[in-house]
Amino acid sequence: MGDTIFGKIIRREIPADIVYEDDEVLAFRDLNPQAPVHVLFIPKRAIPTLDDAQPEDVALLGRLLLAAAGYARREGFAEQGYRVVNNCREYGGQTVYHLHLHLLAGRHLGWPPG
Ligand code: 5GP
Repeated sequence: MGDTIFGKIIRREIPADIVYEDDEVLAFRDLNPQAPVHVLFIPKRAIPTLDDAQPEDVALLGRLLLAAAGYARREGFAEQGYRVVNNCREYGGQTVYHLHLHLLAGRHLGWPPG
């Protein structure tokens, strides 16, 4: 799997509204937000889909989740609640093949999703 738009964001080749960064994770606002808060958490080391993740990626996946939870807590919407989503491949609705978590918050989110 080749490079994606998220690789360009990591390398600062295209702009993004970056809200969090550490040595392994980058987070930025989604270009097409589906909620008042819609932030994408991505690993700097690209994995195409969740289905491609391997046992050696377990710590990285945990860091992504904790980065999202920490951001929600710091921004003050953890208590009200939020949703973290991964879309995997076609039927999951994945469009960018660089694994990412969507953090959605700021409104009541329906279930089941569309
Ligand atoms: P997926 O559909 O793969 O789960 O999510 C990809 C997300 O990336 C979509 O919500 C889409 O709006 C967002 N996206 C696509 N291209 C860009 C971009 O260039 N910049 C930003 N910030 N978000 C993007």
